[in-house]
Parts: sequence; structure tokens; C-alpha cells
Amino acid sequence: MKIGIIGTGYVGLPTGVGLAELGNEVVCIDRDEEKIAALQSGKLTLFEDGLEELFKKNVAEGHLRFTRSMREGVEGADLVMIAVGTPPHPVTKEADMKYIHAAAAELAPCLSGYTVIATKSTVPVGTGDDIEGLIRKTNPQADFDVVSLPEFLREGFAIHDFFHPDRIVVGANTEKAADVLKALYRPFEGKTQMLFVKRRSSETIKYASNAFLAIKIHYINEMADFCEKAGADVYEVAKGMGLDSRIGPRFLNPGPGYGGSCFPKDTNAMAYMGRQNGVNLSLIQAAIDGNDARKHAMADRIWEAVGDNAGAKIAVLGLAFKDGTDDCRESPAMQIVENLLLKQAKIMAYDPKAMDNARKILGDKIAYARDEYEAANGADVLVVLTEWSDFKHLDLAKLKGLMNTPKIVDLRNMLCPEEVKEQGFEYSRIGKKF
Ligand code: NAD
Repeated sequence: MKIGIIGTGYVGLPTGVGLAELGNEVVCIDRDEEKIAALQSGKLTLFEDGLEELFKKNVAEGHLRFTRSMREGVEGADLVMIAVGTPPHPVTKEADMKYIHAAAAELAPCLSGYTVIATKSTVPVGTGDDIEGLIRKTNPQADFDVVSLPEFLREGFAIHDFFHPDRIVVGANTEKAADVLKALYRPFEGKTQMLFVKRRSSETIKYASNAFLAIKIHYINEMADFCEKAGADVYEVAKGMGLDSRIGPRFLNPGPGYGGSCFPKDTNAMAYMGRQNGVNLSLIQAAIDGNDARKHAMADRIWEAVGDNAGAKIAVLGLAFKDGTDDCRESPAMQIVENLLLKQAKIMAYDPKAMDNARKILGDKIAYARDEYEAANGADVLVVLTEWSDFKHLDLAKLKGLMNTPKIVDLRNMLCPEEVKEQGFEYSRIGKKF
């Protein structure tokens, strides 16, 4: 199948690589000149485990190309996927549709022959209708259908999730369009659930799923706070809860709050849609408010550890919003660091993958270390903010020798409390008092 993908970011790029690996002819389109130049010269523009090998292979075999030209990617394509950003509006927090509308207007004049246009971006309910209207207005002769094809990949596992999806949801209002998607996903037949639903249901499934997951995280975070006060251990509680098949064990890991480019923006967009439709989505709003407050509470906890000492030196380990990715968008680490800076802390940070992206957000407000030990040198407290597995294997004796005071605030519960205590650190973690 000939496929054009508009938007070559965290969704568009792994999707393009995966579809090329399945034997399709894929052209990835992006308006970002630098990004396309890098990809054309064989350089990846983001980090995802397993992406590089498949990217190089499919480019070399001629199944995967990159361009800035909409016409080159869309003309003659059987399927065009829209994977551009839908960031939160700065005031209302609804999904900002300017990139979607621009993509639809730009692709419309390039359509030739019957084309399915699939929205991979997370978009408000009714966007399929809007895209359809926009294209018809620009190109009344075009022969096309618009389907919703929500993306459920997890950053850090994008390639794994592409080849092993839990489910594929297609919101198609015509049989003809549904048949194109059935053909595309034939390699997954018998391996995963394919769910064909109405377009508006499909658009809702994506938001409803992300909001549910955000609520689940917020729930276990509140339980962690309760466990600390009540003398319980949140891991024992989570295990006991997760053994109930109605609850399930996943997404019951306490931490500094959810972040990333999806949960914060999608919960806000869903709450906005609720208000627009006169429906009180109170659980989602509670998760949004509680998660925002949590970032402040985490910064306060770190600040207490240094004794409210302006100018205290804080070593931060981890800046990405989670392990396995270089993405810092809405990372709890970014928000906690900003909060500590307001308290006049001096911060030196290290992240194995996200230093470049963090620098774009924080600039020279903090110092950047080459490794964990440089960050810890002279620090009054060391804070773990991302769950990189490297942080499990820190040389604690070396750290203690380097630090000004041996204190660790572990907001990802990465370290072994007994070992840390044995080395003489003051140690605080989430969900259990030590
Ligand atoms: P991103 O910002 O990484 O990438 C978007 C890309 O689109 C950018 O490279 C930008 O230059 C390009 N672009 C914007 N307008 C364009 C246009 N008119 N023509 C060509 N290129 C254009 O975004 P992302 O993280 O890949 O997310 C994309 C969408 O997928 C969002 O709606 C997001 O909510 C959704 N989503 C993201 C994830 C995730 O894990 N990142 C998971 C599921 C769904």
C-alpha cells in the first residue's frame, strides 16, 4: 500500500518505520526543515528503543522516504495518516486544532484517486466531520473518506507497541474505508483485537482511555500518601489490589505525578469537552487538580530535606517524563525543577537520554552533568525523578563521598532502601516511611 504520513514526530516516525517494515511504501512528510534534512541524511530525530535499526533498513531498501512536500507524499497514496500535534490551548486547555486544520487544508489539493485519510493524532470528538468538511471545501472533486485511527503506543515502547498492539481501533463511517484499514492491518489478524466502531466513538475511546489511565495513576499516588501517614506499604497495597482481575496490576506504580505529552493535555481536553457538552466529568477534573498539586508537594518534600535552605545544591537524576524516552514535554521533573528554582535552589542534573530536550526547556537555569556522580558532587540532596534502570545500580559509597550531605529523595522508588540506609543516607521514598 502507498502511504503518506503527515507529521514525523513521536507518533508519525515510529508508525512510518513500522508500516514500511510491513512492506508498505511510506513517505513521511514534515514541515520542519531541520527534521526532514536530518532524516534524509540518515539521522534519527528522537530516541526510541529499536527504532534506528528498522529506520536504516527500510530507508536502505527504499520503502521509506522523507520529504517536506505534501504533494510528494499525498499524490497517488491509498492512505494518508495525519500525525501532527494537538497541543493544549494556553488558556482554555482544549486541544488546539491549528496543525490538524492546516494539514487538512494542505493535503486536500494533492489528493488523486480514492484515498483514506486516517487521523492518528488525538483529536476532539467531531474532528473527522471537520476534516471532511475542510477537504470538501478545498477540493470538491476529491474522492476520499476520513477515518479515526487513534494511536495507543507508549513512548519508550513505540516499536514494540507498533508490532504488538493491545488493540487496533478504527472509526470508519463507510465499508470502503474500513476495508482499506482491514487490508493494512492484515498482518495482525488473529494476533490482536480489531475493533470497528463509529468515527465519533473511536475519537472518544482515545480520550476515555487516557483519562482512565491518568485517574488510575492519580489514585495510587493518593494511596501512597495515605500509606505513608498510616504506616502501610503502598507496594503491598498495590499488589493486593492488582491481584483482583477487575483492577489489574498495571498502572499502580506510585510516583511524582503523571506527565508527558499525552495524559496532562488529554485529561484537560476531555474535561473541556465535558464542559462543552454540559457533562460534569468530575473524576477527570479531580485527577487534573490533584496531579498538578502533587508536583508542588514533591518540590516541597525535596525542599524540606535540605532544611529550607536558599542556595542549597540539588542533584537531579532524570529529566525525561519517564524512562526509555528523551521526551521532556510536561515532565514532572521539569515542573519540580522549576518549582525548586523559585525557592533559589542550585540544580545540577543528569539524564541518560533527555539532556538536549531538557536544555531546550530549562536553558541555563540549571547546570548539566556528564553523569550521576558529577551531578552529586557537593550536593545537599540527591533526587531521583525519572525511573531509568541505570539509577538502580548507583555506587552508593562513591555518591556519599562526593555529596555535601548524604540525603536522597527517591520519587521513583528506584533504590534499595536497606542498602541506602546501610550506607548512612537519610532516605525518603514514596508510599512507605523509612
Ligand atoms: P510531535 O510534536 O512529536 O510531532 C508532530 C509533528 O508534526 C512535528 O514534527 C511537526 O513539525 C509536524 N507538523 C505539524 N504540522 C504539520 C503540517 N501541516 N505538515 C507537516 N508536518 C506538520 O507530536 P507527537 O508526540 O508525535 O503527537 C502527535 C499526535 O499523536 C498528537 O495528537 C498526540 O496527542 C498523539 N499521540 C501521541 C502519543 C505520544 O506518545 N507522543 C501517543 C498517542 C497519541
